[in-house]
Amino acid sequence: MIPYGKHHIDEEDIQAVVDVLRCGTLTQGPVIEVFEREIATYVGAKYAVAVSSGTAALHLAAIIAGVGPGKTLITSPITFVASANAGLYAGGEVAFADIDPTTVNMSPASLKLVLEKNPNTKAVVPVHFAGLPCDMPAIKKLSDDAGAVVIEDAAHALGASYPDGRRVGCCAHSLMTTFSFHPVKSIVTGEGGMITTNSEDVYRRLLRLRSHGINKLDDTFFISSQAFTQGVQNPWYYEMQDLGFHYRITDIQCALGISQMKKIDAFISRRRSLVKRYDNAFVDLNLIGLAQTSGRDFSSHHLYPVRINFAAADIPRSTFMNALRQRGVTTQVHYIPVTIQPFYQRLGCISKNYPKSNKYYEEALSLPLYVDLTNKQQDEIIALLLEFLG
Ligand SMILES: *Cc1c(COP(=O)(O)O)cnc(C)c1O
Repeated sequence: MIPYGKHHIDEEDIQAVVDVLRCGTLTQGPVIEVFEREIATYVGAKYAVAVSSGTAALHLAAIIAGVGPGKTLITSPITFVASANAGLYAGGEVAFADIDPTTVNMSPASLKLVLEKNPNTKAVVPVHFAGLPCDMPAIKKLSDDAGAVVIEDAAHALGASYPDGRRVGCCAHSLMTTFSFHPVKSIVTGEGGMITTNSEDVYRRLLRLRSHGINKLDDTFFISSQAFTQGVQNPWYYEMQDLGFHYRITDIQCALGISQMKKIDAFISRRRSLVKRYDNAFVDLNLIGLAQTSGRDFSSHHLYPVRINFAAADIPRSTFMNALRQRGVTTQVHYIPVTIQPFYQRLGCISKNYPKSNKYYEEALSLPLYVDLTNKQQDEIIALLLEFLG
């Protein structure tokens, strides 16, 4: 069975994890900082904070952006539910800006209107869908003008670059960028996430929020009479200064992350070459179109999403997916618009307000794309699509 996405683990990765288990610290040890440095250097950001998941990263970022009661977070409907949920976790409200149909990313024109309707917006969360960077200069300008912080959800986009060549994660157009290391993403730690930023203040707050809100580094104590005896710091003393969480990642996971980072360039280049092979195979097919028609040279190609005109092909998507599955190929739909999820419906989302997202959803299908997919397997997938849609 060919899955739609899958991690790549080699002997080096296994050895790295075994080494920590044999002689390292299991959690709160030095390997976490090494992984953070590795990611910060790779993306070109000053600071990075590793956490237990991409969702935890988004939650902490939303808090730091100031999302809370009466304050709004805006994201795109075409994303994983976590991008939106972060706003609700922080106690705020969530609004959605429709997509640009040529990129499947948040449309700046739609964001402008949604910002006007939601003057209490504190966070704008563009999602670099399938690894294709959003129009960040436009999104940053609109958010700045509205007094909102930009949080890039780069769960798909480790290894992607903006058109100016800088890497996603450098935070040139945002206060914070979040990543996920779930097994279907660019690199994996099992579960895990990261926030990058160039702000020392944000970095320090993230370190506290990751671990119960307890003081870190050389944070100033609030109550010095408790903290010091005759000018010397009390060895047992710590302060809970914010309401934080237990969102720590382990050294075991970070050891895997460090080992995976050695292969990131090879991973991205393999994905690029598979994408080119798919592109060439489908050029002449009328019923299949690329989901993202501009900017793909800069993408990290987390997914291979296509639009299929199922109505014209006279085959329902479910029948099509089941037929592929019977022949050993798994496909997936990324994503059901968050706006039509029952929970968001209950919150009052009006799904017909997002026509471009709904139209995309009708036609969307992600074909298998991962580092270990062989050319031979890909040829089989292509042959199946030609058989059904050619
Ligand atoms: C995977 C993903 C997340 C959540 O990451 P986890 O590590 O699974 O918590 C958030 N946003 C997007 C767009 C994702 O694809």
